[in-house]
Amino acid sequence: MKRAIFPGSFDPITNGHYEIIKKGLKLFDEIIIAVGINNQKKYMFSIEKRLEFIESCFEKEKKIKICSYGGLTTDLCKDHGIKFILRGLRNSEDFNFENSLASMNKEMSNVETIFILSSSKTSHINSSLVRDIILNDGDYSKFIPYQIKF
Ligand code: ADP
Repeated sequence: MKRAIFPGSFDPITNGHYEIIKKGLKLFDEIIIAVGINNQKKYMFSIEKRLEFIESCFEKEKKIKICSYGGLTTDLCKDHGIKFILRGLRNSEDFNFENSLASMNKEMSNVETIFILSSSKTSHINSSLVRDIILNDGDYSKFIPYQIKF
């Protein structure tokens, strides 16, 4: 069974994340969406809310598992016996950062990162801009999955 972990902040999950997960399901038999808890980061949504939003998107999807985690993603991979990390790429900025991260993860734990490119429909979406729209009472509905209710 081919399994992957899709780690991220998901603060909140956007149509960009959603697209990558849907495409990932064509490659993997199981994807664990792992929601990060990092004490150095300030989140808009609590861990409970971030998990709840993702759950509401994938209620009927048996190949999706959801968990929260702290610490290194490679340790999480080890705990689950998983050899693949799934990540999305929007642009060259993502690539430059993700390239280092993937190489270091590979060197540390022999975990391979599989990248999926976002389409032109979602490559402009990022969680921090979505948070800004939410904070300023703007219309965020085009950027997040319709199942999410704040
Ligand atoms: P992190 O804090 O780890 O960057 P994010 O929740 O911002 O967590 O992103 C998790 C993953 O989703 C990353 O691989 C990121 O590149 C990807 N991602 C985020 N937004 C998009 C998008 N619009 N299209 C494709 N991938 C995306």
